[in-house]
Amino acid sequence: MESNFDVASIRKQFPILEQKVYGQPLVYLDNAATTQKPRCVVKRIEEAYFSHNANVHRAVHLLSQQATEAHEGARVVVQGFINAAESDEIVFTRGTTESINLVAFSFGEAFCREGDEILISSMEHHSNIVPWQLLCERKKMVLKVIPINDDGCLLLDEYAKLLGPKVKLLAITQISNVLGVENALGPIIELAHKQGIPVLVDGAQAVAHRPVDVQALDADFYTFSSHKIFGPTGVGVLYAKRFFLEKMPPYQGGGEMIDQVHFEKTTYNQIPFKFEAGTPDFIGTAALAEALRFIQKIGMDNIHAYERQLTDYALKELGKVEGFQLLGNIPDRHAIIPFQLKGIHAYDVGMMLDKLGIAVRTGHHCAQPLLERLGTGPCVRASFAFYNTTEEVYRLAAALRRIYKMFN
Ligand code: PMP
Repeated sequence: MESNFDVASIRKQFPILEQKVYGQPLVYLDNAATTQKPRCVVKRIEEAYFSHNANVHRAVHLLSQQATEAHEGARVVVQGFINAAESDEIVFTRGTTESINLVAFSFGEAFCREGDEILISSMEHHSNIVPWQLLCERKKMVLKVIPINDDGCLLLDEYAKLLGPKVKLLAITQISNVLGVENALGPIIELAHKQGIPVLVDGAQAVAHRPVDVQALDADFYTFSSHKIFGPTGVGVLYAKRFFLEKMPPYQGGGEMIDQVHFEKTTYNQIPFKFEAGTPDFIGTAALAEALRFIQKIGMDNIHAYERQLTDYALKELGKVEGFQLLGNIPDRHAIIPFQLKGIHAYDVGMMLDKLGIAVRTGHHCAQPLLERLGTGPCVRASFAFYNTTEEVYRLAAALRRIYKMFN
């Protein structure tokens, strides 16, 4: 594989990748679950705790001002990273899951009534299914699902038929965490908007792999998790258009989200603070900003191109392994390869790969309805980040050959 991408020097920024597991150099291919952290992110956390740790927004003293500047500065970095129109449209949460739950609750309160419908797709992660089921139970609404074909692609004609005046929101993933397929969000969102239906995009598997422009997408809501984009755990992002944030009621009550509190009546803070009750993870947000700056320096387009080459190379190499069965028939996969080894349970494959130093994910990948639809049962998922190499792909292919031989 030819590439100008300097993966060797990038890897030096990720000390965890240098270690051995069971005496073998670690091959970390579980990036769709969580990514590793570069030195600058961990350094940022240490620096924040050691030199300007103080609660944000509240005090007049210097440390608090510094912490507040870092936290609010991070909001601007996120805004720039996904090209939101204003930083007030960036709400910090604990992760994609909380971002979606926030919308399901607050949007549901403001815009939904008994008999209304929410539309999702067959390939959603559980965190883009269950919050909508809870809303539907609470409000006596109906959850509708866009079907997929046997290849694992959305049936867009069926999607068009499901749209209608009862649909209050479409919630859909940009890239499937199992199949790696990217949905054609441009036309999908355009069609929904033609009928006045807002769209929430689950970007958890997209932001670390391709440039994202929420204004170009015209997404009404966009969600992602810091830990999947080389930032710390426990921080997430909800982008929402001002129009919706202004209309939606608070999700949780407490400090930060209030304007005036009286026992008779409380008024709320302006957006985005209205949705950020309690002390935010201000150290985490500053570290997330560091991660975003780090990948911006490498360049999202460069990352996208490198990972595309790596994924294509992996598909070719793994395709030569006897017994290798790829899930779905997707024209263009994004850094995710789901598979089975013929006749061998996915857990056995995963456990043996682990002993050979290769970390992958096995199971239903929090997308049980998708695997049920594909009729495959549990599978193995190898997922890449820009620090993975062709050599690692080669080791995965060699390990799978060895496992297949052992079982046959
Ligand atoms: N959506 C998708 C597509 C995901 O892959 C994940 C994480 N696997 C989530 C949502 C949930 O993310 P988190 O657990 O960070 O909230």
